[in-house]
Amino acid sequence: MSDPVPDPAQARLDEQRRRAIAYLRDTFPTPPTCPMGHEEAAWDVTEPVQLSPMAGSLLASRGYPVFQVVCTRCGYTMFFNAVIAGIVDPLG
Ligand SMILES: [Zn+2]
Repeated sequence: MSDPVPDPAQARLDEQRRRAIAYLRDTFPTPPTCPMGHEEAAWDVTEPVQLSPMAGSLLASRGYPVFQVVCTRCGYTMFFNAVIAGIVDPLG
């Protein structure tokens, strides 16, 4: 039985998620509390996703790359710009 073939796209997403977590740890040394009142919040960090601008926007064809930080207790979600965080190349 052979090992599964590595998926380059998944490997890239995994690396971007790892970099998002490192960015958060470097930028915010103290983990935040959930604004919805969960002081003992645990957070999940996603790989970058793209928010779609409204039709007619100057960025309609590009979108906004962000990664999400989600409270695992209630689902409250924060979005961080993945370009500013250095995770997504704005020209790539
Ligand atoms: Zn919460």
